[in-house]
Amino acid sequence: MFNNNSNNSNNSNNSNNSNNISNQNYQVINSFESIQITKPNTLIICDIDETVIHFQRSVYYFHNKLIDAFVEDFTPNELIDITTLLYNTHKMNNKPHHTDVKGFFQLTQKIKDLSSNFIFLTARNIKSDEMTKSDLFSIFINPNQYPIHYTNNKISKGEYISKYIDLDGVSEIIFIDDLDENLQSFNYFFPNSKYYKFIYDNKI
Ligand SMILES: [Mg+2]
Repeated sequence: MFNNNSNNSNNSNNSNNSNNISNQNYQVINSFESIQITKPNTLIICDIDETVIHFQRSVYYFHNKLIDAFVEDFTPNELIDITTLLYNTHKMNNKPHHTDVKGFFQLTQKIKDLSSNFIFLTARNIKSDEMTKSDLFSIFINPNQYPIHYTNNKISKGEYISKYIDLDGVSEIIFIDDLDENLQSFNYFFPNSKYYKFIYDNKI
């Protein structure tokens, strides 16, 4: 679940690599400026954690620390639960940073100019709604400006979109996320839509 395999990102546009998981035709970006909206009524679906919001420690930090120290003490599921608990505690006790203020502002301008729409889709639990809004507020995003959807980590993002997002009148969907598993599930449900892997901090 927390396999941050950034090596895969190098394969993103390499159609000759038959080992790619599904047809990884996403573009790897480190700025929202790179997102291309070409049609009116596009719907941009954007992740929150490590896509617009960055905390000092990532989920991988806690995962790797636990693996280093206690690898034989936990089952894989326990490892995920404890990692999530530590990461959530870190998020509660630390202020987040914006990953790309300038690029995000440019993206929201493009969205307005092209009569398009923007929503957040997070794996966070709906119970964290208040904290999520407070996190967005801390990075100067009005939390009431864009709808926030929560998968509660119970359903893949691709399936969530196909079941719960109203796509009537939407000309094109654009999906932005930092995690391969979310990008893959989106691509599975929407194989013809554009999707972007956001990598914070110029790691491309
Ligand atoms: Mg994320």
